[in-house]
Amino acid sequence: MIIGLDDTDSKNGMCTTYLAAVLIEKLKMYGTIKGYPLLIRLNPNIKYKTRGNAALALPVELNSSEDTEKVKQLVTSTLEEMAVFSDENTNPGVVFIEKTSQQMQNDLALFSMRAVQDVLEIHEVLELLTRHGIDYRGYKNKRGLIGALAAAGFALCGLPDSTFELIAYREKEKWGTPRWIDEDSAWSAAMIPGTWDTVDHENERIVFAPHSPDPILFGIRGRGEDSVRHAFSIVKCESVERHVVYKTNQNTDMHLIRAKISDVQDDRSYILDGNVSKEPKTIEGGHVIFEILDGCAVLECAAFEPTKGFRHLIRQLRTGDEVTVYGSVKEHTLNLEKIRINSLNLHESRNPLCCGKRMKSMGRGQGYRCEKCGATKKEPVTECLQRNISPGFYEVPPSARRHLAKPLVRFHTTELASSCAH
Ligand code: ATP
Repeated sequence: MIIGLDDTDSKNGMCTTYLAAVLIEKLKMYGTIKGYPLLIRLNPNIKYKTRGNAALALPVELNSSEDTEKVKQLVTSTLEEMAVFSDENTNPGVVFIEKTSQQMQNDLALFSMRAVQDVLEIHEVLELLTRHGIDYRGYKNKRGLIGALAAAGFALCGLPDSTFELIAYREKEKWGTPRWIDEDSAWSAAMIPGTWDTVDHENERIVFAPHSPDPILFGIRGRGEDSVRHAFSIVKCESVERHVVYKTNQNTDMHLIRAKISDVQDDRSYILDGNVSKEPKTIEGGHVIFEILDGCAVLECAAFEPTKGFRHLIRQLRTGDEVTVYGSVKEHTLNLEKIRINSLNLHESRNPLCCGKRMKSMGRGQGYRCEKCGATKKEPVTECLQRNISPGFYEVPPSARRHLAKPLVRFHTTELASSCAH
């Protein structure tokens, strides 16, 4: 049986991963988790999300098929006990996949991917559940069924790329109070090879612990169970109530769609090639904005204030630089997660020099005149641009990284090298 769960939490507490962690424990009396529980991040631009748009799937090998109804009863009663129904934005959903067919796998593979890259409607999930006879419980407006079925779909069809996260949970009486984690031990844990985003070196911050009042103490991300467990063994902290190692689509770039600017829609995430067509400017709040052009379409790109030092790099871009941008589009602006500078414009067109000063333009297409001696010239001159940046891949720091964004440490050296060879 595959159990999919979503939308049980609120901004003031709880977390669907915690419900999954409790269920993993309770389900031991009926069977074992097959492989790993899945922690799936869905479209990061969904307006209904509480925090990171997570959904969970538990693939369970039941000891006896006669226990099916008891398992469903246990799952639904635990969800009903723990979900924050009072929050108007909490609309829990749980699905139970028991039998499968090739058609169901095809449909779910597509649906799950769309839940990560696209915006779905509640009627689409209800239609799919009915068509394939999948048992479910949908509460309130039933929106949680979208995430629940998407996560279950990945458990059924597999993840094309995956990483691991070990999540440690707090004792219940500590929820809502400041977390105690020994800082030095977190910096030591961050040294374990194959883990990332425990700390942010550039900004000298620990980033693996949330600040919200939810049950999570911290999460360690990495490429395998061994590395995240090793890092976990090093962290000194308040007592951990339980911990779970999840397989996840985090840090895989699964949300990104390769596209042309003319195909871009709000609330989706993209990889786009273009040339810088308007130079970066810093606006109120410290956000840095520039524009790219591919063929005939333009798009505004932004390195927002939380991306800190990444903005220094972005400020160095010049018109004509060839770039590939990675990020989510909201209100016609791409929020940069990464950028690959493919080639730098090393020349610029400038007003000619005369008498030690730049000549004045006499208007569009009218040429230039020296203000001192009156000499005129028809054409501008092409001069070499001094650049302080190099072609290559650049990313936002861990403190500003989105769950789905693939960090450069996960790129193969060949992919990084090819970007520098441009
Ligand atoms: P947390 O990370 O703390 O678990 P959350 O950020 O996951 O919270 P939810 O409370 O689960 O947020 O709310 C997200 C809601 O959006 C869920 O009901 C989910 O089913 C729905 N949803 C997720 N992805 C999509 C999508 N692509 N299209 C439409 N609805 C979606």
